[in-house]
Amino acid sequence: NSDYRKMFLGVDIKFKLENGKKVIPIGFDNGATTPALKCVFDEVYNDLLVYGSIGRGQGPKGELSTRKYEESRERVLKFFNLQDNDTHTVVYTKTTTESLNILANILIKNKNDKVLTTRMEHHANDLPWRKNAIVEYIDVDELGRINIEDIENKLKKENGNIKIVSVTGASNVTGYINPIHEIARLAHKYGAIIVVDGAQLVAHKEVDMKGKDPTEQIDFLVFSGHKTYAPFGSGVIVGLVKDLDVEEPFVKGGGCVDYVFDDKVIWSEPPSLHEAGSPNFIGTMAMVRALEELKNIGFENIYNHERKIKDYLMEEMKKIDNVIIYGDTENTEDRLGVISFNIKNKDCYEVADKFAKENAVSLRAGKFCAHPYVARLLKVSNNYEEYKKNLDDADFGMIRLSIGLYNTMEEAKIFIDELKKIAVDA
Ligand code: PMP
Repeated sequence: NSDYRKMFLGVDIKFKLENGKKVIPIGFDNGATTPALKCVFDEVYNDLLVYGSIGRGQGPKGELSTRKYEESRERVLKFFNLQDNDTHTVVYTKTTTESLNILANILIKNKNDKVLTTRMEHHANDLPWRKNAIVEYIDVDELGRINIEDIENKLKKENGNIKIVSVTGASNVTGYINPIHEIARLAHKYGAIIVVDGAQLVAHKEVDMKGKDPTEQIDFLVFSGHKTYAPFGSGVIVGLVKDLDVEEPFVKGGGCVDYVFDDKVIWSEPPSLHEAGSPNFIGTMAMVRALEELKNIGFENIYNHERKIKDYLMEEMKKIDNVIIYGDTENTEDRLGVISFNIKNKDCYEVADKFAKENAVSLRAGKFCAHPYVARLLKVSNNYEEYKKNLDDADFGMIRLSIGLYNTMEEAKIFIDELKKIAVDA
């Protein structure tokens, strides 16, 4: 649908290739970051005309910005169907990574607390927990999915010792959508809270954090604005006020305190408690505007549009000799528009470079900050001792194509034609 394309900035700007040809680049790397919507540009332009420091100074500019910034939290809650609730609040951060680091540092009360996560995760939802807690992992099956029964069995076996279940809403490698409400129900049944990494989910599928009933509610959700068609620098934690109301924040400085005495600190309440330092007003407004635009377009429309392109790509790629697609290629209902693949006997970085140089197609090659998951999909060892013995494993990787709202079927066709050419001589 070319109407969606018109809503974006910069996606139709021509680039000069090495051979001198000027082409419109094809952006199939939306899992890494997304271009900005035009409405975001307008929002940022207006906010740049008049802005002042947030919560730090009198005067009309600062007051206007502070009011807009504070009121935007309610807009984010509404986006996740949490309007008029007093259970959740919105903390603004820089990225998903920072959000998860904050949560790992404030939700864990004791080194022996257990966190349950999966082998499907981006490092951002694995490494912060490793430092502060005992981390248990649900492994993935042959096709790279996690199974809900494994989660229940683990929670049952641990008998109330798992304090936090932290899962990705959708994988950045295979696009699998996890059943977050079912997982929430299980977590709550066994006395845990749930954290959802929404970095790959929020721009592609509606997230109703409330769920059908309180047992299915999502306690914490984190994501980044630069994957929701706004620029870099804004991230979010939507989470339970009662659990955010901790004694001390992870990041400390101005703005998170009510009083600082020589010998005592009186900390603020959440959300300010977790927003030390001058807030990123412009970036935050850009992100909130982008979210609202996605709601205006409608998530059914977004999902259907991206799915049509994904289904076409998947079916065509399956027909091409020497192309290996990771994850389930038969039942793809639970996959968003992320397709990771390799060409037999070809280096993934060289393939991605060829696409970039010859057709200005942006893809990503490598391990996508999810080494344990990529290793499992490739069926190579992710064990350090074995890795030391066989350094070849270090070179593993794949190529990722990830679809965004502005992509078109024409772009998908160009990609397939090029892939056929590259794969034929493998
Ligand atoms: N989680 C997932 C699933 C991701 O895909 C990413 C980004 N690739 C992140 C977390 C980290 O996001 P950021 O780099 O914006 O912190």
